[in-house]
Order: sequence, then C-alpha cells, then structure tokens
Amino acid sequence: MAEVLVLVDHVDGEVKKVTTELLTAARRVGEPAAVWIGDGAEAAQARLAEFGAVKVYAASAELNDYVVAPKAELLAKLAQEKSAAAVLVSATPENKEVAGRTAVKLGSGVLTDVVDLTADLVAEHSVFGGAVVTHAKVRTGVPVVAVRPNSVPAEPAPAQAEVEQVAVELSAAATAARVVERVVQEKGARPELTEAAIVVSGGRGVGSDDFSVVENLADALGAAVGASRAAVDSGWYPNQFQVGQTGKTVSPNLYVALGISGAIQHRAGMQTSKNIVAVNKDPEAPIFELADFGVVGDLHTVAPQLTEEINKRR
Ligand code: FAD
Repeated sequence: MAEVLVLVDHVDGEVKKVTTELLTAARRVGEPAAVWIGDGAEAAQARLAEFGAVKVYAASAELNDYVVAPKAELLAKLAQEKSAAAVLVSATPENKEVAGRTAVKLGSGVLTDVVDLTADLVAEHSVFGGAVVTHAKVRTGVPVVAVRPNSVPAEPAPAQAEVEQVAVELSAAATAARVVERVVQEKGARPELTEAAIVVSGGRGVGSDDFSVVENLADALGAAVGASRAAVDSGWYPNQFQVGQTGKTVSPNLYVALGISGAIQHRAGMQTSKNIVAVNKDPEAPIFELADFGVVGDLHTVAPQLTEEINKRR
C-alpha cells in the first residue's frame, strides 16, 4: 500500500488534534506516514502511531527558521522518493501556502478547505454557506490536500511507527525569507479557536467592547470565543479571534452566533459547523437560513439566561 504523507501540526512537541484527524483520513487512502519538522519526533511517535502512522519522517528544526518554502521542498522530495499516494496538510493559512507550493513542485494539483476525503481521493467541499456540496479530484500527479480542522472525526487505529530521520537540501529560494521573531500568543484557559468542539461568537449585536456576555456563555460551555469582523474592526475583540473568510476557519460540533447577521464572508469560516445556534433580534437575519436552532431575541437577555441555565445543570 502506498504511503500518504501527513504534515504534523505540533506545538512544543504536542501533536494537535487536527493531525489525528488527518491520519484518520489518510488511512482511507493508504499507509499514513507522519512528517515531523523540529525536535521531539521520538516523544510523539506513540501518539502518531495511535492514529495509524506507520512511519514518522523527522526533519530538522532548521526548516522552521524560514518562511513556508522549506516545508514544501521537504514534502515534495518525500512524496517523490516514497512514491506517496497523496500529501495531506491541515487547512491553516500557512499550510495552505505550503500545500500550493508543494503541488507546484510536484506538477500536480492542490485542493484546499476540504471537509471530507474518500478512499479514492475525491475531496468534498462545502460552499455557499453549506447550501452546496462539491466534489473534486486531482487528476495529475500526487494530490496535495488541505483538510479543515474538525471536519473528519479522529478515530484511533493503533499501529507500530518507526522514526526515520530525513533531510532536504534547501534551495536558495527556500531560504530567502527567514523568520526573525515569533510572538507566542498568550494561551488563555479557553480552548484554541480552530480546535474547539464548541465556539461562541459575538458580532456587532454585542454593542460594545464588553464581550463578557459572549465569554460567560463560552465559559459555561467550555467553549472558545470567536468574533465577527464587524466586532473586530470596532476594536471590541482581538483580531486573532475573527471567524470568516479573512479570519479563522472553524468547524466545531456547536457554533453559537450571538448578534451576527450571517454575511457570506462570516459563513465562509463557520458554515461546516455541525450544529449552529443563532441569537438575533432580527427574524430576517440571514444567519437563520443556516442555523439549526434560532432564537429571535435580544442577546443580552437570551445569552445570560442560557449561561445561567447551563451553569445550574453542571
Ligand atoms: P452586522 O452585519 O452589522 O450584524 C449585526 C447583527 O446583530 C444584525 O443581524 C442585528 O440584527 C443583530 N443584533 C443587533 N443587536 C442585537 C441584539 N441586542 N441582540 C441580538 N441581535 C442583535 N466578516 C466576518 O465576520 N469575518 C470575515 O472574515 C470577514 N471577511 C471579509 C472579507 C471581505 C473581503 C469583506 C468585504 C467583508 C468581510 N467580512 C467578514 C465582513 C462581512 O461582510 C460583514 O460585514 C460582517 O460579517 C458583519 O458582522 P456582524 O454580523 O457582526 O455585523
């Protein structure tokens, strides 16, 4: 069976949930082979094997010193050397760029923001606010597929993984842009937005920079907090929490939209959520077309009641 390369997302050696989802999707296609960049591959070997990785290709941390290009050179080299069936990455902004560059090097095609993948590499996309599902397949070369976090449920399938050190000779172009500083965003008590099972987002309807009505409901649910661009542009919430076309893409089990109209650009970042609950005082708000459950009302009345009720039941 051909190998399917999976670029591992990890923070300080801890494998992110999305990688376990990618390994699950990779198993449908072939033998998952994790590609680890940086230190700590041996320590993470067991976790990767738990989700079916039979190989862990470990590459030098030096690749992280440069902006995206070295990762693409590594993935393209491995894909060719190992005759891989496909390359899977998470659909983060950085990895989508890695995916595009890798596909160019392989002379193949790239599919991004994929929400599901079949054994014969047909990729599913959800578009127009989830109203349309499209299917696409790369017809030439080794397909490179960027899969959205929280799209494919992770299922363990224990395997034995061996670690193999790999190296790539970086081109001058790959080392042209060097990372000079990394700013680690403060890690709050809440789950990371793109990985969270529940997201509670606030929009212009919140009405001020006092986002506590959103945060209180999020904390009652153990959720991450998100925001619409209108709320971010108003300076009410930091921009790393923006959900949408120009923000983060989320796909949680539950997405709660408080005072968000449901503009197409906002939908682009949350339309694949499994359950959508909207609270909006306008019964005609477009978010209700997308919502599984809708409450027409003032969020400042509805959300605190919901928070109180959830806290009572805990
Ligand atoms: P509004 O559209 O103003 O909606 C506010 C809603 O709150 C209304 O429906 C109103 O009825 C309701 N409301 C008001 N008060 C209350 C209350 N007390 N209780 C309950 N409901 C209330 N937007 C994004 O979100 N993410 C993006 O990534 C993004 N990218 C963009 C990229 C481009 C190129 C462009 C052009 C736009 C982008 N936008 C994005 C902006 C997008 O078009 C919308 O303007 C934005 O999503 C609106 O945010 P909102 O729903 O919070 O505000």
